Amino acid sequence: MSRIYLSAPDVRGPEREMVLAAIDSNWCAPIGPDLDAFEAEVAELSGRRFGVALASGTAALHLALLELGVKAGDEVLVSTFTFVASAAAVTYCGATPVFIDSESESWNMSPELLAEELADRRRAGRPMPAAAMVVDLYGQCADYDRIVPILAEYEVPLIEDAAEAIGAALGERPAGSFGEAAVFSFNGNKLITSSGGGMLVTDDEHMAHRVRHLATQARERAPHYEHVEVGFNYRLSNLLAAFGRGQLVGLSDRIARRAEIRSLYVDVFADVDGVEFNPIVDGRTVNHWLTCITVDAERAGFSAEELRLHLEASDIESRPLWKPMHLQPVFVEAPARLDGTSDALFATGLCLPSGSGMDDTELRPALDQITSFLEVSGASSPAPSIVRSTS
Ligand SMILES: *Cc1c(COP(=O)(O)O)cnc(C)c1O
Repeated sequence: MSRIYLSAPDVRGPEREMVLAAIDSNWCAPIGPDLDAFEAEVAELSGRRFGVALASGTAALHLALLELGVKAGDEVLVSTFTFVASAAAVTYCGATPVFIDSESESWNMSPELLAEELADRRRAGRPMPAAAMVVDLYGQCADYDRIVPILAEYEVPLIEDAAEAIGAALGERPAGSFGEAAVFSFNGNKLITSSGGGMLVTDDEHMAHRVRHLATQARERAPHYEHVEVGFNYRLSNLLAAFGRGQLVGLSDRIARRAEIRSLYVDVFADVDGVEFNPIVDGRTVNHWLTCITVDAERAGFSAEELRLHLEASDIESRPLWKPMHLQPVFVEAPARLDGTSDALFATGLCLPSGSGMDDTELRPALDQITSFLEVSGASSPAPSIVRSTS
């Protein structure tokens, strides 16, 4: 039996057709009509005027920071509970990430801690951060209803790291619509993929133009190669954009499938004390990128790590939640405002196989292995009723 992955690429018919059509039309250069169309489609989906397709989500974060003027010596507030790319992009600019802990409601950046950090800086007369990068984790938007006004009060620009959140929404507003710029990832394990790629979306025409320029080696308009600044080779190719467009066609089906997968896990753990799912806040539409649990080992009678090892023995991939950036050896020196929330999530959490490409028969071994694990660990058996002796 083949390995069950956390989130394998889910490739269907349209991608194949669109890539072949791009090849047949000879648009194998880095630019082309699929690239333009992919940008327009993702911009529309995220309620933005402009999209710039790039080689990765990380590249998009890097250019967003540069265009907001982040430079060496600056500080940027970043969610500590995230994938390393959010913080790495800050260091590419020579700036220092300042990590902010999560709220337990959504696991995303805590608006309280963010407000405290900014208020403390103002009180102490310390410089304001050059930007804030707020992450939408596991397919759920952060609390922008509170975060946006806080940042506005201190005039700190916002980058929304929506790498994991395509198709999600906060109220009526889609993921990717918050801040000066937002970023999506089309890496292979994300909800939709271009087999590697990313996009910056914005309403700012100047920024879109600048990012496109920087991403193409900052080549000036001239018959020869003319450069007045140093750029990057960060553009997505037309072929990969065709692939991404094909994936986008089935976005809502993929989200629906991931929602079903979550509900199957909810059933399996229904009688287990001490197991909770990644929370979904009222009013937020999530894309169910990954279904995650936290395990209170004392109440459950097993730990997340024991369950992970059990699944791994059957070639089923599961993974701890993001290890917070403030715990990463590479960032131990970075300042951080913490309250223990992400530490606890990392210590007790597990992401379960959630790929939309799995049908029920492919998912079945994962569900069965969890069920048998729960039986052996005694977790799923109903609590024995207490029988009192009357003699
Ligand atoms: C995947 C991811 C990225 C990076 O995207 P790439 O396309 O892999 O470079 C950035 N931030 C978060 C939160 C991610 O999950």
